[in-house]
Amino acid sequence: LKDRFEIILTPEELRAKLEEQNYPYFIIDLMHWEKHTPREKKKVAFQASRSYGTLRDYLVGDSLIVTWANEEFKKLLKGMPLDRGNIIEKSTAEFLKEKGISEVVLLDPNGDKDLSSEDFNVKAFILGGIVDMGGTKRGTTSQIAESLEKEGIKVKKRKITLRGDVIGVPDRINLILEILLKMLTEDKDMERAILDVQ
Ligand code: SAM
Repeated sequence: LKDRFEIILTPEELRAKLEEQNYPYFIIDLMHWEKHTPREKKKVAFQASRSYGTLRDYLVGDSLIVTWANEEFKKLLKGMPLDRGNIIEKSTAEFLKEKGISEVVLLDPNGDKDLSSEDFNVKAFILGGIVDMGGTKRGTTSQIAESLEKEGIKVKKRKITLRGDVIGVPDRINLILEILLKMLTEDKDMERAILDVQ
């Protein structure tokens, strides 16, 4: 049925439907795009398109939004439609303001607290569109929070940990999204959700 929704409705109709049903947005923020090597950029694009597939499995693909997306990213992207309004050049803050969203959860390995069901009442979850093969981008996710806070958006930084540590948690964007979706839609606890995606 979810798939049929996406086929029968135009992108605008589908988006209106999602908003009516109060589905949250899942946003991949590409503000750090230029810090990546060509190889890392390919991985970011691959993980973004896998995230779209993951969302289709759990909710609907069109609840995924990629912000700060430039032509280079679009060229590298395979397996994700470019014409449905998911891939936008706007900043995350602009998108959120347009939708009237003033509070978000940012998935951040340096978050203040572990992610829990208390965080699930927001209208948008943000993931960093970041791949860090050389260990040169430590702390960059938290910079996304700073840039949103400057725009007046309240950001709850939440981490996913396994027995109290981020070590042992996969850091691929699509897997972090899948852990979140297992907790959110299947009511799994964090450890179960992590083990399920490993
Ligand atoms: N080097 C980056 C840093 O220190 O912020 C990590 C980037 S990680 C490869 C890509 C994205 O996956 C992050 O921006 C974040 O949204 C998410 N992520 C990865 N591991 C996470 C964790 N343990 N908890 C919460 N989010 C995580």
